[in-house]
Amino acid sequence: KLVCVTGASGFIASWLVKLLLEKGYTVKATVRDPNNPKKTEHLRGLPGADERLHLFKANLLEEGSFDSIVEGCDGVFHTASPFITKYTDPQAELIEPAVKGTLNVLTSCAKRPSIRRVVLTSSMAAVAYKRNAQTAGAVIDETWFSDPDFVRESQFWYVLSKTLAEESAWKVAKEHGIDMVTINPSMVIGPLLQPTLNTSAEFILNFINETFKNSTLGWVDVRDVVNAHILAFEVPSASGRHCLVDTVVHNSEVVKILRQLYPNIQLPEECADDKPYEPIYKVSKEKTKSLGVEFIPFEVSLKETVESLREKKFANF
Ligand code: NDP
Repeated sequence: KLVCVTGASGFIASWLVKLLLEKGYTVKATVRDPNNPKKTEHLRGLPGADERLHLFKANLLEEGSFDSIVEGCDGVFHTASPFITKYTDPQAELIEPAVKGTLNVLTSCAKRPSIRRVVLTSSMAAVAYKRNAQTAGAVIDETWFSDPDFVRESQFWYVLSKTLAEESAWKVAKEHGIDMVTINPSMVIGPLLQPTLNTSAEFILNFINETFKNSTLGWVDVRDVVNAHILAFEVPSASGRHCLVDTVVHNSEVVKILRQLYPNIQLPEECADDKPYEPIYKVSKEKTKSLGVEFIPFEVSLKETVESLREKKFANF
């Protein structure tokens, strides 16, 4: 069982590589810089890595970069895509690597008949962003697609990168007859394996350090996300998209849970604005549960995220 994981040094991909190795897979893992120990040491140290983990250098923006790496693989997990909040040129730093990278990876896969299925790490960003979508009582499911015009107008550049990447992925998959399944998680938290701070863990850190914004977000644990990826590859009948959200809560609720967990730390008392709180919507779990995915409760993930941030010295309390 030989599979490829793109962007292996990232938060989600590191857990994916870990679980794949535990399950006996041999993993070809792509990283941008195999000589940077911060990006590779935690992977090389995983159980089974000595025998069954092979690291390769690849970049989303280089055409053909993945061509020879995916050769001989039974499956490809394409997770690499920038998830950053600080950028100067969203087109060059977010949209191009997301969209061109996805096309690059899928075009390489199209040339390799051994590949049975491609699992794409998409996002709820590609599902839930259209006008009047996130309203009280709405139940969002896999039939929803974000509207690129609305997202562009709103200048949600990361959301746009994921929306356009998934849209073009389906087009290429159809053109080349690739069996592709997508996993669409909301904000992903849980313990960090990598030594660097990823964006969604930073969101939790910001609750501790800053006034919280008046917004509502979905949350899911990284271990459920990687389990969903592997089930999406292994379950023959899996197809299409899979929303992956344990719970949707207003930021005020996150602060409330943090206050209960850590009564001694100073947490913001007030929301950044005094408008009515953004509404809570729901996201259907039905399709993802049918894959066999179970959900770690948000409170547990949140606690373990904070513990991990402390352990890695990102949180100093
Ligand atoms: P990380 O930032 O930890 O990982 C992103 C990965 O993408 C890194 O390995 C990074 O490589 C790689 N990457 C970025 N640009 C390039 C490039 N030009 N060429 C090659 N590799 C590149 O983020 P996450 O683990 O959170 O995200 C992984 C995936 O999950 C992404 O597709 C993201 O959109 C998606 N996702 C994440 C969610 C979350 O809340 N975390 C929610 C929903 C979806 P390098 O290490 O070299 O920078």
